[in-house]
Amino acid sequence: MTCFICKGNMTNSTTTYMEDLGNCIVIIKNVPCNKCTQCGEISYSGSTVKKIEAIINQLKNSLTEVAIVNYSAA
Ligand SMILES: [Zn+2]
Repeated sequence: MTCFICKGNMTNSTTTYMEDLGNCIVIIKNVPCNKCTQCGEISYSGSTVKKIEAIINQLKNSLTEVAIVNYSAA
């Protein structure tokens, strides 16, 4: 797999995904991703994106201001 920005090599890595929902900030740790060794661009696979969406949907109605979840435990 090559980076769509700089055509560099993408390697398997993990990252911390953050999303601001307005009333709540969701932080998901240890999200598997492909990371470019050259420019640092990150891309997620389709199934990872689906799981991130599912986690966020679950947390949307949460009353906490900051929700931190571990991807592998979610
Ligand atoms: Zn790149």
